[in-house]
Amino acid sequence: MTQPSGNQTISHQNLVANEERFRALVTATSDVVYSMSPDWLVMRQLDGRGFLLDTHEPLVNWIPKYVHPGDQQKVNATIADAIKHKKIFQLEHRVVRADGTVGWTISRAVPILDDKGEITEWFGAASDITDRKRVEAALRDAKEESDLLKRTYETITGGTPDLMYVFDLEYRFTYANQALLTMWGKTWDNAIGKGLRENGYEEWHATMHEREIDQIRATKKPLRGEVSFPHAVLGRRVYDYILIPVINSQGEVEAVAGTTRDITDIKNAEIAISESEARFRTMAESTDVMIAVGDELGNAIYFNEAWINITARTLEELLKNGWLDLLHPDDRALVTKVTTEALREKNSVQFEFRIADNRGGYSWLLNRATPRFHQDGSFVGFVSSTIDITGIKENEQRKNDFISMVSHELKTPLTSAISYVQVSQKKAAEYDDALTAGMLDRAGVQLRKMTGMINGFLNVSRLESGMIHMERELFDLALLVKEAGTEAATTFTGHHLHFSPSAEIMVNADREKIGQVINNLISNAEKYSAPGTSIHIACNTVDGRAQVSVSDEGIGISPEDLPRLFERFYRVKANDTKHIAGFGIGLYICSEIIKALGGEIWATSTPGKGSTFYFSLPLSRS
Ligand code: ADP
Repeated sequence: MTQPSGNQTISHQNLVANEERFRALVTATSDVVYSMSPDWLVMRQLDGRGFLLDTHEPLVNWIPKYVHPGDQQKVNATIADAIKHKKIFQLEHRVVRADGTVGWTISRAVPILDDKGEITEWFGAASDITDRKRVEAALRDAKEESDLLKRTYETITGGTPDLMYVFDLEYRFTYANQALLTMWGKTWDNAIGKGLRENGYEEWHATMHEREIDQIRATKKPLRGEVSFPHAVLGRRVYDYILIPVINSQGEVEAVAGTTRDITDIKNAEIAISESEARFRTMAESTDVMIAVGDELGNAIYFNEAWINITARTLEELLKNGWLDLLHPDDRALVTKVTTEALREKNSVQFEFRIADNRGGYSWLLNRATPRFHQDGSFVGFVSSTIDITGIKENEQRKNDFISMVSHELKTPLTSAISYVQVSQKKAAEYDDALTAGMLDRAGVQLRKMTGMINGFLNVSRLESGMIHMERELFDLALLVKEAGTEAATTFTGHHLHFSPSAEIMVNADREKIGQVINNLISNAEKYSAPGTSIHIACNTVDGRAQVSVSDEGIGISPEDLPRLFERFYRVKANDTKHIAGFGIGLYICSEIIKALGGEIWATSTPGKGSTFYFSLPLSRS
């Protein structure tokens, strides 16, 4: 007898002997029994038991009738394998059920062999495992879903520095995220299921949380708190925590979930901010300097006590209405112009003005406004500090009045002295007294110098009180420059004067005062350069404006002094200028005159090499 391969095959003899009993047993325990031809091409019989359709006649095309299209290939392959090895066919696959729906079966068929070991028939039994498969599928879906949720939660809770945890009602941790495990220095396995004390909480701390868990269980309400305790590595830290009840379907609290955040840095920053705010307030409130803060639109958001004092207004009034209405009428236009420009350009500005004060008069104030910017460069607003300069202004006024009075008083005797000298000059000429004539000439020169100085002071005080009036007329500036140069050349002793000739340049300005400016520049060039050097004078049209320049080869001016030369009473403090007489008012007067005529005045210089002073005036349009 040929022994069939596979130990699950059954010998023909035994089968014949037991076939009836075997069939009866299989029929009784299976949902479906079937019999197939040796090559499985023909289904000889199938008892479907309501699960599959019955087949009483041999059926050739049985696969499409019973097997789900998606599993037909798998079924064919398993059949081929079973036939090849003469072993039991066994497969779970989908079937088309009697009612046309898709079901699942586990099908087993044994080959019945004849005494030569050849297959005569396959006898099969199949059970309906549709329900089991559905449960399996549902379980698989549920597992996938829960795995996904788990992964999601782990990503969320694992990636945050916040501490996250869940307590059961016996105060044991049922969940702790990675940050918490790391803080404890523990692993999941030796921390989960443990209570607070076992995880290293001090007694007071454990008791506190246990009471909170009880409270949440009773009230079913979340709870928030702040606690401070030492961190293993970072030292003492402050934590903010929220505990939330986890409520089950019966509405009972079944667990308590918590999140804890380390707020030490925020707390420290808050303390630092309030510290710096307190420091700023103390500084701002304890000073006589008036301090105000504006927002990016220019609206005031803070005034200190000093502003309240000087304006005799409440903080609320100041914040609502400001103080611009208290401005002296003459200063309104200037303040509006300067502040509008500063807000537009976001530049620092400094300006003086008068406001009606709490004493019933006007106070002179000096304001300096500085723009502030965020780190990203966006504008925050201005901080302005203002000081009361009324006292300084009054002193200045007294000084001006004094200078003006002294100059006036000096002028009368000076005029008399000049006329006496002139009379004496005539007499000396009559008597041919050369020596006396020479002395008188020198006295005349000195007296003219003195007159120049006194006139300078008178001009300053006139300028200060706004009493210098410009007499405009149309004239040729080039000609005026030439005349001034020629006249100066007559008094020069050691300098070479060069004049660059120019065509007519008509301007509409005060001829006499422009003459004064040119003389001043030429005499400075002479004063601050050595004899034997050259002085160049030029008059041109540059960029549509008339421009005059006076260059020397003198001592020059340092870059720090250059911008300040035109300030009143400003003189360069240097060894080589100490012995040169002057009061620092000449350039101030020049600058005031040029500005009043709509022009500009400036200088360039290389120390040790020489300087060039320029002024420009608008060309006459006619
Ligand atoms: P001062 O009467 O002192 O000359 P100014 O107002 O005319 O007054 O000039 C102010 C200062 O500018 C002078 O003290 C001097 O230091 C400097 N300065 C003016 N002109 C020149 C120049 N051409 N070269 C060098 N320094 C000059």
